[in-house]
Amino acid sequence: MAPKPIIITLDGWSSCGKSTLAKALAKELGYVFVDSGAMYRAVTLYMLRSGVDITDEQQVQQALSQIELGFAFNPARGASDIMLNGENVESLIRELKVAEQVSKVAALATVRKFAVQQQQRLGAAKGIVMDGRDIGTVVFPQAELKIFMTADPETRVLRRYRELAATDPGISMEAVRENLALRDHMDAHREESPLRQAPDAKVLDNTHLTPEQQFTLALGWAKEAIG
Ligand code: C5P
Repeated sequence: MAPKPIIITLDGWSSCGKSTLAKALAKELGYVFVDSGAMYRAVTLYMLRSGVDITDEQQVQQALSQIELGFAFNPARGASDIMLNGENVESLIRELKVAEQVSKVAALATVRKFAVQQQQRLGAAKGIVMDGRDIGTVVFPQAELKIFMTADPETRVLRRYRELAATDPGISMEAVRENLALRDHMDAHREESPLRQAPDAKVLDNTHLTPEQQFTLALGWAKEAIG
């Protein structure tokens, strides 16, 4: 009999490589991978484009009622691209101007409710790996495997800088450092679903691990949890 599918959550600080690991695990296990941060980024892009005043609850509600999020598998990336009202916005949401606003938008209770409902629907059939900040604590507190990822802040800055500099050579290391520090602070100190390590999470500090080493470690945990 095939083993029962489980839910695997990966939470942690910005730019720890959560999505990369989640994607690799999902591929290996034949599971669905969902990048929950992409959902908050797509909502933020919509708010920026339509000039929504995010301090105005009514405007935020109205904007959310106009947003439909979806995913479309992109074989080149081996993962799903995020769709905002039918438009593929996967690369646009990675820009620094979205990163600079996303933690403010993600702190709003209405936005979180909107995203969490969709995330729970996506995980209803299990067989899913989802990464984010509150996936093991709020979205799937019943998940069979919870991983909390962390890495030294400067290592994270350097990794994110290299990633962004590949498409934006003008980007400064300082801007990336500031953005990560600010997002970490806001994500951990907001009232709604702050970034927390679930008590039953396994901690993965990848500062000194190669991608292969961290994959082997996490896959071992997954196999143990699947049984
Ligand atoms: O994972 P990523 O860095 O793309 O997420 C972007 C932002 O979205 C985070 O800094 C955080 O503010 C927010 N986020 C969140 N809860 C999640 C995933 C992301 O608040 N589950």
